Amino acid sequence: MSTSTSRPVGLPHYAVAGIGAGPANLSFAALAEGAVPGPVALFDRRQSHAWHPELMHPGVRLQTSWVKDLVTLVDPRNRFSFLNYLVTTGRIYAFLNAQFDAIPRLEYDRYLAWASGELGTIRYGVDVTGVRFDEVFVLLADDRPVATSDHLVLGLGTRPYVPDCFADPGLPGVPLPGVLLAEQLAEHFAGCRPEPHETAVVVGGGQTGAEAVLSLLRLGLREIRWIGRRPWFAPMDDSPPANDFYRPAYVRHFQSLPAHLRDRFVSNQILTSDGVSMTTLQELYQVNYEIWLADGRSPVMMLPGRDVVGAAERHGSVVLRCRRLGGGQEQHSARHVVLATGRRPAPLPLAPELLDLAEGEEPAIEPDYSLRWKHGDTNRIFVQNRAQSSHGVVDPNLSLLSVRSAVIINSLLDRSVFSIRDEQVHTLWA
Ligand SMILES: Cc1cc2nc3c(=O)[nH]c(=O)nc-3n(C[C@H](O)[C@H](O)[C@H](O)COP(=O)(O)OP(=O)(O)OC[C@H]3O[C@@H](n4cnc5c(N)ncnc54)[C@H](O)[C@@H]3O)c2cc1C
Repeated sequence: MSTSTSRPVGLPHYAVAGIGAGPANLSFAALAEGAVPGPVALFDRRQSHAWHPELMHPGVRLQTSWVKDLVTLVDPRNRFSFLNYLVTTGRIYAFLNAQFDAIPRLEYDRYLAWASGELGTIRYGVDVTGVRFDEVFVLLADDRPVATSDHLVLGLGTRPYVPDCFADPGLPGVPLPGVLLAEQLAEHFAGCRPEPHETAVVVGGGQTGAEAVLSLLRLGLREIRWIGRRPWFAPMDDSPPANDFYRPAYVRHFQSLPAHLRDRFVSNQILTSDGVSMTTLQELYQVNYEIWLADGRSPVMMLPGRDVVGAAERHGSVVLRCRRLGGGQEQHSARHVVLATGRRPAPLPLAPELLDLAEGEEPAIEPDYSLRWKHGDTNRIFVQNRAQSSHGVVDPNLSLLSVRSAVIINSLLDRSVFSIRDEQVHTLWA
C-alpha cells in the first residue's frame, strides 16, 4: 500500500475511501477493520443507514442464507457476524424459536444498521458527485472536495431501470405520467387509498414485480394484471446444483471461460438469482384463490409471455401495447402502471480522464475486482457489484459478499490476509 503525502490541505485523509455504504462496502469495512493499516471510511448519500427502504413491504424475506452475512464465510470469528448481532442485541432465543426458513428482509436491514453503528466510520449525507486524482484521490460532493484517500472501493449499488418505451420522451429515464416505479408505490398511495375497481398493471415478472402485485392487493385493488416477458412466472431455482454457481470454486471456473461465452452462461443461469421466491408465488396464488372464493372473481390476471413495446397516456390511463410470445399483439389499459423492470449499475462518479472510457462504456474489471488505470500500481480502484459478465451470476448477489471483500483486501495488501477455501467440489463444470 502506498502512503501519499501530497494532498489538498485540511481535508480528512483515509487509506481507503469507500463510496456507498450498502452491504457490499459494509462487508469490506467490517473485514478491513484490524486488517488494513490506516483509516478506512465509507461515504453514503443517505442521511442514515437504510437498505432498499422503498421495497421493504410487510413480510418480505431474504433470498440468501443468513450464514452468508458480511463476514462469516471468510472470517467466522469476526465481530460483525450475524450471529454476534443476534447475541449482542439479545434476540438470539426469540430468533431461533421463530424458526425462519428465510429471514425477514427487515431483520437483515436491522443487522446492517447495527453493523453500520458498530463500525462508526461511515459519513452519511455525502453524495459523492465526482472523484479526481491529484497524487491522491480527491472526493468531491457538489464539486467541493470533502476528503482524500490513497485507494478507492466503489460500492454504489444499482438503480431502477426504466425501458425506453415507458420513458417520458422529454425526460429520458423518467417514467410517463401514470407510470411509477415499484419503489414509488408506498409514496404514491400514501394517504389516498385507491378504489378496488381502479385498474393496475405490474410490468416485470421477477421478485420485485410479485411483491408489487401483493402490495396492490393489500391496498385493496381488485383489478390487477401482472405482465412478464418469460413464458411463465418462473420461480427462483434454489436447488443444490443451482447453488453451486454461488461458490468461489465456480467463480474461478467462470473466469477461465472465454469472454464470448460468459454472458451466455449468465443468462442460462439467471433463474438461480432473478426468479421469484417459491413462497412469494404460493402466497400470491393463494390470496388470488381465496379472494375468488369470497367474491367469485380473481383479482389478479397473470399475463406471462408478453413484451411491452409501447406505452402512451390517454385520458388519465396508460395504454400498453404488448407483443405476445405466441404471435400477435394486444393492448392493456390501466390507471396505474407499476414498473419492476430490473436494475442497472449506478453511474461511476469518476472523472473521465481517470479511466479513459468512451461515453457509456463500462470499465473492464480484473479478477481481483480492480480497475486498470494509469496510477493503478500505487493507487488502487476496486469496484463491487458490477462484474457479472466477468465474475458470474453471483456478483450482484449477497451470497459471496464477504469473499469478494476478502479478495479485494488480499489484493490491496498484496498478501493472503484471508484464505478462501472451497475444496469439497463434487461437480466438474464444463
Ligand atoms: C429489494 C431488494 C431485495 C434484495 N434481496 C436480495 C437477497 O435477498 N439476496 C441477494 O443475494 N440479493 C438481494 N438483492 C440484490 C443485492 O444483493 C442488493 O441490491 C444489495 O443491496 C447490493 O448491495 P450494494 O452494497 O452493492 O448496493 P446498495 O445496497 O444499493 O448500496 C449502495 C449504496 O451506495 C450509495 N451510493 C450510491 N452512489 C453514491 C454516491 N455517488 N455517493 C454516495 N453514496 C452513493 C447508495 O445510497 C446506497 O446506500 C436485493 C435487491 C433489492 C433491490
